[in-house]
Amino acid sequence: MSLSIQRETMEMDVLFVGAGPANLSAAIHLSNLIADHNAKNPDKALSPQIAIIEKGQSVGAHLLSGAVLDPRALRELIPDFKERGCPIEAEVTSEKVLFLTAKSKFAFPITPPPLKNHGNYIISLNKFGAWLGKIAEEKGVNIFSGFAGAEMLVENGKVVGVQTDDKGLDKNGEPKPNFEPGMNIRAKVTVLGEGPRGSLTKKIVKALNLDKGKNPQAYETGVKELWEIPAGRIKKGTVYHTLGFPLHPYVYGGSWIYAMSDTLLSVGFVTALDAFSPANDPHFNLQKFKTHPFVRSLLEGGKMVGYGAKAISGGGYFSMPKLYHDGLLLVGESGGFMNMMRLKGIHLAMKSGMMAAETIFEALLKNDFSQETLKAYEARFENSWAKKEMHKARNFRQAFNVGLYWGTLRVGLQMLLGGRILKDRLPLEPDHVHMQRLSSLTRKYVLEKREFKFDGKLTFDKLTNVYESGTTHEENQPCHLYIKPHLITDICNTKCTVEYGNPCQHFCPANVYEMEIVNEQTGAKKLKINASNCVHCKTCDIADPYQVITWKVPEGGGGPVYTNG
Ligand code: SF4
Repeated sequence: MSLSIQRETMEMDVLFVGAGPANLSAAIHLSNLIADHNAKNPDKALSPQIAIIEKGQSVGAHLLSGAVLDPRALRELIPDFKERGCPIEAEVTSEKVLFLTAKSKFAFPITPPPLKNHGNYIISLNKFGAWLGKIAEEKGVNIFSGFAGAEMLVENGKVVGVQTDDKGLDKNGEPKPNFEPGMNIRAKVTVLGEGPRGSLTKKIVKALNLDKGKNPQAYETGVKELWEIPAGRIKKGTVYHTLGFPLHPYVYGGSWIYAMSDTLLSVGFVTALDAFSPANDPHFNLQKFKTHPFVRSLLEGGKMVGYGAKAISGGGYFSMPKLYHDGLLLVGESGGFMNMMRLKGIHLAMKSGMMAAETIFEALLKNDFSQETLKAYEARFENSWAKKEMHKARNFRQAFNVGLYWGTLRVGLQMLLGGRILKDRLPLEPDHVHMQRLSSLTRKYVLEKREFKFDGKLTFDKLTNVYESGTTHEENQPCHLYIKPHLITDICNTKCTVEYGNPCQHFCPANVYEMEIVNEQTGAKKLKINASNCVHCKTCDIADPYQVITWKVPEGGGGPVYTNG
């Protein structure tokens, strides 16, 4: 599109991008700090304009997690959370870690300390986010749902806000009768809490070199189903984690089963995106996992009632970018706040938001939003329990670079040595470089996938699953999975087919990428992108071996509508 667009400008003091637990906690904590200050200093009262933009159609619509919540940050933020109706599905009452072989299971004699969940809560992150959103709104925070951050506004090296998405463009980028240009929201400080692999975060981290000297981020993709099951099979509050089947020992990952009630289960599978096989398929791994006799015995005769997928920023402490710049803070998974050793990040995201809020409050008092003031955020983190927790797990994800068995041993050593192994910082490479070409690979895994039949009762194809995610997009809009046209010809339809067999068909959990045969005689294929199926998991942006796919925001309001995610 070569339109010269007149954009409206909105002035804010504080702009949060993404209504996840990090930014919602930040907005609530900041509002509390300001209210407290104003009560004590009526003559120096602050009244900043605070806004949150959220690409989902409502707060929580794009939030998805297992999830077991460690309530530490929640207690700090909202001590009376229970009285205030916090949506808790169950308190964890029993937990087990299992190692699965193809037919059997072995329980770990004791639950490894990082996976101990007694006292934690099983929640739906989507309901939890909606609850936090309501509290933020009650405190006067403006939440604009259905508005995505499309571009960062940067002037003279300083972040000065965000441009929201244009609405009403057709698939060629031309305006339709309902065209509404995105607006420029200018702010003294912009807080990116976009979750894993945020599209603005990716760009600004690169542009400002915020990851200089850090390990690259490492990702996994979590694929989740909700199941209604007959009563009597499991007790509300039960938590299982498993290792082993169906993963190859050189692929990091595992499962969770959380009993939200006696008859409602959250069942999910996490697959690392640094797998060697181009056929690595997080959706397939969940389907295969459910065929294990133990899992089948829980689910058979039940009904799958929800689906979703999301990447996880699993690299840990050494993969965290610099968290601040002039006019900018990074929170939650955008800042790498995640503890893969515990398979938890919500509490860290919330704490990061609270630390950001304290820093912004000081900046408001000084009316100074430069790095000099905002760097106090990183100092706060370095002195926090969040840092202590993440530092203990600082080499966790790297330890599994040598496969499950050696990795487990290395993690055991780390736990004994407080996070160290042989070196204090184990290196990490970007996930996509681990993918091997077909020529150097056994085809066994691909064949196994081809032979697997989804029965539509226990196991489902991707399209059936996507239907349960409530995903919709305006069909006539520019494709938000952006590949430069010449790269589709030069790489996707040719080079990638030969070298990797088009792994996008496998790693996308929503059947967005398909190779269509265009010439029966030669077998030539062409990439077809079914963008409206996209559940916004970001896996393609991460795992593509040529790094030619850029996930851009579609029109705000599109995407999944998780209701119990
Ligand atoms: Fe995930 Fe990309 Fe597929 Fe969308 S297109 S569902 S972001 S892998």
